[in-house]
Amino acid sequence: PKDQRKFGYAIVGLGNYALHQILPAFAECRYARLTALVSGDPAKARRIGAEYGIGPGHIYSYENFDSIARDPEVDAVYILLPTALHSAMTVRAFKAGKHVLCETPMATSVGDCQLMLAASKRARKYLMLGYRCHFDPLTLKAVAMLNGGAVGARQVVTTDNSDINVPLSEVAHSWRFDRSLSGGGSLINLGLYGVNGTRYLLDEDPVQVQACILPNKNPLFSSVEDTVAWTLLYKSGAVAHGSSSYTIKDASTFRVLGDKGGLLMDPATSYWANRVSLISGDATQSWGTPQFTLPALNQFSAELDYLAECVARQQPPVRASGQEGLQDMRLITAMYESAHTGQPVNT
Ligand code: NDP
Repeated sequence: PKDQRKFGYAIVGLGNYALHQILPAFAECRYARLTALVSGDPAKARRIGAEYGIGPGHIYSYENFDSIARDPEVDAVYILLPTALHSAMTVRAFKAGKHVLCETPMATSVGDCQLMLAASKRARKYLMLGYRCHFDPLTLKAVAMLNGGAVGARQVVTTDNSDINVPLSEVAHSWRFDRSLSGGGSLINLGLYGVNGTRYLLDEDPVQVQACILPNKNPLFSSVEDTVAWTLLYKSGAVAHGSSSYTIKDASTFRVLGDKGGLLMDPATSYWANRVSLISGDATQSWGTPQFTLPALNQFSAELDYLAECVARQQPPVRASGQEGLQDMRLITAMYESAHTGQPVNT
């Protein structure tokens, strides 16, 4: 019903993604609303608060954040900080008695992911992650088609994920190039979505991973890696291989080949305009013409609403769950280990 109170979110960290994607998405939410802001920049927080109708009583700093426990308008905290800060802020939010939606990557180590899951359990509050593609209608349709046998037995997945939303000339100042805040370079920040995608496209987790960091002498990449190439092996016999990169231009693709055909998503992980093509193995068909499109759905509003629905139904999130983030982090950690030792790593 229209007069029912909507689920209130506090947004933590008013950076690019929060300002340009998440905050505007509340306008299209059915069950969620913006009720508080948390920022290290009081002037920015006041300005954004004025824009979105959030009064000074609902604006917090990182220092006084814990008093959000007494803010009845806040049901959940959405964490949009640099990755290394996710875990500590998640634990604080659970201590304050709030549900948590945390951006991806979940954290910079497996141990931190486990701390977040344990804090959720202790507080009896839900933890969900910002895996927005899990709310993209074309992705969901592609997964359903693959599970329904659209390409037959899935054998090879290829995925490439590259480019960064900060121009290379500016990145020297970005937390993404500071390993202590980002946990690594393109593999954890972009390759993560390729690895997560192979898991939903194959409906299987790899048993062995191999990865290799390509050399790049640009001093920008002295702390975090640029391009990574990798291979994942599966018990079923399937293989996934892919790359992530900060300097290869604009790649966002998944290609799944099976014994009856193939499915291509290109772009695969964009905010608005993903495309899917199917090929049947008939030589007259070629890649490139999308076989179908679906009306665009706001992935950001959908994820905000989903946690609200989960809480209303008292059912922990099964989509974009904390366990999903933990498993991806295990695989990414194993891939870094393989890149550094030059050996395959069993997972
Ligand atoms: P930004 O650098 O633009 O914003 C991060 C914000 O965090 C800052 O504006 C600042 O907000 C706050 N902050 C607090 N401490 C620090 C610190 N020590 N250094 C830098 N910033 C700090 O990053 P993004 O918005 O691009 O990314 C935020 C999160 O969202 C990351 O986890 C990222 O991986 C994720 N992301 C996910 C995407 C997706 O598709 N799912 C896409 C893009 C990002 P303030 O000034 O208000 O304190």
